[in-house]
Amino acid sequence: MRQTRDRHFDVVVIGGGPAGSAAAITARRANLSVALIDKAAFPRDKLCGGLVSGRGRRILAELFGSPDAGADFLAARRTCFAFAGEVLAEFDAPRDLHFTMRRDFDHHLLRHAVAAGVEVFEGARLATIEPEQNLVTGDPGRFSYGVLIGADGVNSQVARSLFGRAFDPARIGFALETEVTDSPALPPVMQIDFRAVDWGYGWAFPKRHGRTIGLGGLHCENPDMQARMKALLSAGGVDPAAARIKGHFIPFGDFRAHPGRGNILLAGDAAGLVDPLTGEGIAHALDSGRLAAGAAARAIAAQQTGQALEFYRRSLAAIHDELSRSVRLRRYAFSPRLEARFRARLQHSPELRLAFFDLLDGLSTYRELERRFAWRLLDPRRWLRPLFGR
Ligand SMILES: Cc1cc2nc3c(=O)[nH]c(=O)nc-3n(C[C@H](O)[C@H](O)[C@H](O)COP(=O)(O)OP(=O)(O)OC[C@H]3O[C@@H](n4cnc5c(N)ncnc54)[C@H](O)[C@@H]3O)c2cc1C
Repeated sequence: MRQTRDRHFDVVVIGGGPAGSAAAITARRANLSVALIDKAAFPRDKLCGGLVSGRGRRILAELFGSPDAGADFLAARRTCFAFAGEVLAEFDAPRDLHFTMRRDFDHHLLRHAVAAGVEVFEGARLATIEPEQNLVTGDPGRFSYGVLIGADGVNSQVARSLFGRAFDPARIGFALETEVTDSPALPPVMQIDFRAVDWGYGWAFPKRHGRTIGLGGLHCENPDMQARMKALLSAGGVDPAAARIKGHFIPFGDFRAHPGRGNILLAGDAAGLVDPLTGEGIAHALDSGRLAAGAAARAIAAQQTGQALEFYRRSLAAIHDELSRSVRLRRYAFSPRLEARFRARLQHSPELRLAFFDLLDGLSTYRELERRFAWRLLDPRRWLRPLFGR
């Protein structure tokens, strides 16, 4: 790591995940000077299923010139829906699903940012954030900034410096995950168990060398997550005693309506931008990173850096709207009262399956889903009937 002191950058980005790399490369392309600081040295591991949706891949192509961005993806369509261990349906998804390892994926994105002229400080501890002085200090030295972008994940130090804590554990999710090497290799199948946990789901995602198996749900609703993880692994033919299980908070369902303050913006998980129903966070991380950088560029050009949050909030409105609708829909999808109907629809309804994949691919939105059934809106259960049945 280079040692530098007392430097000024138009934009300083904290965190080199998808949100941070997207923000940094966007700001650099707007001709701004950009520093990115990450506490980890890359390549580094990140607990994640590594499913990059069609929506995410479109943003990748726009920002990094290729939907693969140099990372190694496994494409597969075979899908298995299960419910508390029981297989409900096996079928082919309408389009390819793409799976990656975050260790490689994030590394590639960061290298793109370096190639674009971003000054990256890896393995660099961040000591203090002084919002009043527009200063960050840490291993790389003392940097002043025009706009600071906190893309430092769910435990965001930037969010803590602004709001005292990064998130409310009672309102967000928690996930457990492990990597499994299959020898001989299994056919690539995406497995989702919609009742592996409460208010969440379990997954086994195919990878080049095996599977990523995990589960995630609302933290407060799942005191027995370890036991459920062991049951999920056993059902998948994996010895739980031999698995290296890790846990991580996942911020679904509690996004920040005010993601920052003045000239400090939060993007990706630091802003709580994970879909509460699907658990997808990579696409929103990329998107919010670029939107944060766009807002920074606009504020700097207008010499009104204190307006950056206002610009950013406006551009985030569509994502916030979608996440709010997803929270509403989750009440039905995961409600114990509607469980039998949901299970039957997962088993038999092509319409529900198509809606799921269209949402993942960004070919449909929660807003469109509601509009499609708008005439039944007076009674939400009526517009949800085609999806969850009566
Ligand atoms: C178990 C699990 C499975 C998931 N599966 C999927 C999936 O299949 N598909 C999907 O779309 N989403 C998935 N998600 C969500 C997804 O992982 C996140 O939404 C996504 O990583 C958010 O990207 P980000 O850039 O905001 O943050 P991160 O990817 O968390 O990156 C944050 C970066 O900031 C750095 N950092 C943190 N603190 C500091 C600090 N103080 N100083 C400097 N650097 C710091 C970290 O080292 C890290 O590199 C999953 C999440 C979990 C927990």
